[in-house]
Amino acid sequence: MAPTADKKNLFGLPQGDLEAHFVAQGQKPFHARQVMRWIYQRGVAEFASMTDLSKSLRAALESGADVQKPEVLSRHDSSDGTVKWLFSSGSGQAVESVFIPEPARGTLCISSQVGCALDCSFCATGAQGFNRNLTTAEIIGQVWHANQMLPRRSNGEFAVTNVVFMGMGEPLANYRNLLPAIELLLSDFAFGLSRRRVTVSTSGIVPHIERLGDERNVALAVSLHAASDALRDTLVPINRIHPIAELLDACWRYAAKHANRFITFEYVMLRDVNDSLQQADELAQLLAKRPAKVNLIPFNPFPGNLYKRSSAETIRQFQARLRHHGLVTTTRRTRGDDIDAACGQLAGRVSDRVRVRLSEKNLRTATA
Ligand code: SAH
Ligand code: SF4
Repeated sequence: MAPTADKKNLFGLPQGDLEAHFVAQGQKPFHARQVMRWIYQRGVAEFASMTDLSKSLRAALESGADVQKPEVLSRHDSSDGTVKWLFSSGSGQAVESVFIPEPARGTLCISSQVGCALDCSFCATGAQGFNRNLTTAEIIGQVWHANQMLPRRSNGEFAVTNVVFMGMGEPLANYRNLLPAIELLLSDFAFGLSRRRVTVSTSGIVPHIERLGDERNVALAVSLHAASDALRDTLVPINRIHPIAELLDACWRYAAKHANRFITFEYVMLRDVNDSLQQADELAQLLAKRPAKVNLIPFNPFPGNLYKRSSAETIRQFQARLRHHGLVTTTRRTRGDDIDAACGQLAGRVSDRVRVRLSEKNLRTATA
């Protein structure tokens, strides 16, 4: 829906802001909960159809507010059931989301930024550069749209049972809009997901890991990818500001803030770069006896990138070695690669990008 300048967009407003809106209009705050249920649980964007609101309230809403739904540019369906959507972010920009169906759950991998400034050397989004942060409405709009488009599960639940912030962008670099998005994902009046079913994946912006632990404490995944600072500096440049020891300290504090909280460490398998058994031993040394799980991600190639994926046998041996050290380790199955929807392949459309040179100052600015 095209934005209407003089109307307040209620889509993506957290409950407190929506209540404040009603109070400012001389209305009762509980209408916020009614409107949230209509928008997020029944998928209704027209006030006229919100039948538990009085006629006069509906008329007042019509004249002063609207519900701007996300604008979808395309949908691609993979032969393995994975679905990818391209969402417009205006001015020719676009971001992607991927739905991954599994028997026990439906996971939506969502974007948090148009591009990414952190420039990890193996990532298609990083290669695109950074344009801007998504708004809260744009973040949760991806979940809303998937739920509206996909058939419900056999138990009547929405198709999206799990949300992972593993699409385009670094979610903790967009902390201000991430927080209300998480609130809506968890709210009983909106998407109603449990904390365990919402995962924020970060390349390691330490101060915001601390804040997230205090303010939301959803599941945390950390893109580690290397066990030494020398290597991680080259793969994940934010490591030059927040090196491994500092990052892991923040992770253990995060885990300690919530009972039974494990941190998932993502580790992209790059042939002859980080996949030796000695590197597996070093990784185990960092994580063993900690509340840690490891998720190995076979590298997904994209045009213009020089890395190669480790062989299946190397990945199997690396995993076996970590397990030998007592670490719970899984290998991510590659899904949706026939539609370029696999991890790290999401490029969307990012133009007019802000060129960020990786000086320390710029990295700090990009993640502030
Ligand atoms: N910015 C966040 C979340 C988005 S990336 C982060 O970095 O954690 C989601 C995951 O995909 C990260 O673990 C990232 O390292 C991984 N990834 C990026 N490029 C990849 C590629 N080409 N192949 C496999 N995984 C990749
Ligand atoms: Fe950004 Fe994550 Fe890609 Fe790194 S891996 S460039 S932090 S999206």
